[in-house]
Amino acid sequence: MKGDTEFRIAVLPGDGIGIEVMQACLEVLNALCQHVDGFRCATEYFPGGAAYYRDNGVALPDETLKATQTADAILFGAMGLPDVRMPDGTEINPQIDIRFALDLYAGVRPVRALPGGPRLLADTRAQSIDLIVVREQSEGMFVDFHKGRLEGDLSATDRCLITRAGTERVVDFAFRLAERRRVRGEPRRVTCVDKANVMTSMAFFRKVFDERRARFPHITADHLHVDAAALNLVRQPWTFDVLVAENLLGDILSDLAAGLIGGMGMAPSADIGDKHAMFQPCHGSAPDIAGSGKANPTAMFLSAAMMLRWLGERHSVDACLTAACHLQQAIARGFANGRIRPAEFGGPDGTAAITRTVIDIIEQQALSDAPQ
Ligand code: ATP
Repeated sequence: MKGDTEFRIAVLPGDGIGIEVMQACLEVLNALCQHVDGFRCATEYFPGGAAYYRDNGVALPDETLKATQTADAILFGAMGLPDVRMPDGTEINPQIDIRFALDLYAGVRPVRALPGGPRLLADTRAQSIDLIVVREQSEGMFVDFHKGRLEGDLSATDRCLITRAGTERVVDFAFRLAERRRVRGEPRRVTCVDKANVMTSMAFFRKVFDERRARFPHITADHLHVDAAALNLVRQPWTFDVLVAENLLGDILSDLAAGLIGGMGMAPSADIGDKHAMFQPCHGSAPDIAGSGKANPTAMFLSAAMMLRWLGERHSVDACLTAACHLQQAIARGFANGRIRPAEFGGPDGTAAITRTVIDIIEQQALSDAPQ
């Protein structure tokens, strides 16, 4: 429509179910653009991933990397296949290359239980799980990505680099995120997760965290060693608000937390930098179910909602914020009234059925009510 703000979205579907949930997501985005005036998404597909590497010898073509640098935002499916490996034995992970190239230093992984959604824990308090893992993504234990050292067949080394600048910016990000959250009216809290009792690098991470927390006196700040954090995430996840952690620790804890709200098909993520951002489900390419039509696209949809919110805030486009609300509400309503029952949790609904339901609800919402 004339006067609408147009956003250029680089779409990287990748491998396996990444391709399937991406196609579903673009259908949903299209429906949102039709029903919410004021913005449009010009989406363009770009190649990359493990299958592409197998066929062409490169995982992330220059043209794709360039597109991620010039687009307004990036939507990413999933990349990697277990049987396609680099010469050093690691899997194809172009998402990590993109994080480094675009300096997407904050991995934001919200874990929120949806009423009517799947739940792992029997305790009724699990209905109120609403936490965010903020994962540092520019250094830590991934700093030697593609550069790990092999000493013949005798040993292998990856470093863990924690810098003051890298820690300050991600810790500040976590506190600012906590500031903006409205969680159950309770005091906001940021928990530093580390292994400061054993590793020098982690003790430094904690030291910098403690220095920065003084800038946010209105927010509760505390620490947990990662082993205790894993235990408490299973025993009482409803007590957490925002957690901030080094790269690998954040990676592991966010998958653990995703398990608490059912599984990977429910867990969205955003990789945020100062200039760019990429949005992708937390899950991988799931080759075990690729092609079966059973992939749960919810995490991809929720990631698209995060993208709309980020674009709306960054460019002051209210229509994007409205669209993000519409999408989140449609998903929440679908689970709450039992219309979405993913095959991932033993229900009858595959990718196509869930997509249809979400679009139906978006259309009903557009006709009947504005999002609250
Ligand atoms: P990566 O390391 O690339 O993140 P992974 O090897 O940890 O990937 P995933 O591809 O995320 O693993 O899959 C883990 C399990 O979760 C698999 O059994 C897969 O089928 C399941 N799974 C992942 N995503 C979904 C989804 N969207 N819908 C249904 N099942 C999923």
